[in-house]
Amino acid sequence: METETDLSTGAGVIPILRAWDETGSPLRDGFLGREGGISTGPFASLNLSYWVGDDVRAVDANWERLRAQVPELKLVARVNQVHGNVVHVATRETASSRPKADGIVTAEPGVMLGIFTADCVPILMIDPKRKIAGALHAGWRGALSGIVQSGIRAMTSLGAHIDDIRAATGPSIGSCCFEVDAALAERFTKEIKGSVRHARAGRPGKAYLDLRAIVKDQLLGAGLADANISAVGRCTRCASDRFFSRRGADGKITGLQMSFVGFAR
Ligand SMILES: [Zn+2]
Repeated sequence: METETDLSTGAGVIPILRAWDETGSPLRDGFLGREGGISTGPFASLNLSYWVGDDVRAVDANWERLRAQVPELKLVARVNQVHGNVVHVATRETASSRPKADGIVTAEPGVMLGIFTADCVPILMIDPKRKIAGALHAGWRGALSGIVQSGIRAMTSLGAHIDDIRAATGPSIGSCCFEVDAALAERFTKEIKGSVRHARAGRPGKAYLDLRAIVKDQLLGAGLADANISAVGRCTRCASDRFFSRRGADGKITGLQMSFVGFAR
């Protein structure tokens, strides 16, 4: 299922794909792409990461533009993403600490969470009743190491109820483009139950994986209801004009797009 709700209209604004349509609610969420900023070259144009080699002034200006559109993104907790399975609990006090982790959760209204990707799967999570939010970064390493399960555990540790947790996966590399070594695909089919359904043969020695489908299975396996899981946005490589894509950039340096979630109050 692919939905592309674009809340923004008019010229010069940043396109935001919403994970949930919650008009009037304090929920703020969105999957950003690469459009709407001022960065140039491989960072064109809405790179929001200070850690990929982009000009700091351009990143500052991109943040300024984004905050003009979503003022609640004042305090955005970020992590130093390392393709692991550690989940950081962000509070107002720790929001600027940026520890090594691939997931962030918070139970504090006013604290927004930002996760950065360029092909890997961004996952946003909420328990809207208890105003608990989470964001995860799941590439193939993270998926194998259990970032999805860690993320759900971190949500429930903060008080989220498994039946109320909703999750949305965002723009990421699709099975159309995610060609890996056959040995890696085999690891998936061995280590993650059911993932054989999400692998198909490619050229000799290669295979294609549907990482988003694998992540969805992991969310289901962790206890989420099927109806509470959605998929938003396209394959980043196919749509590399709209999204940063590591593979679309032939593995060279690239900007990163941010996905964010949190409760404003
Ligand atoms: Zn594709």
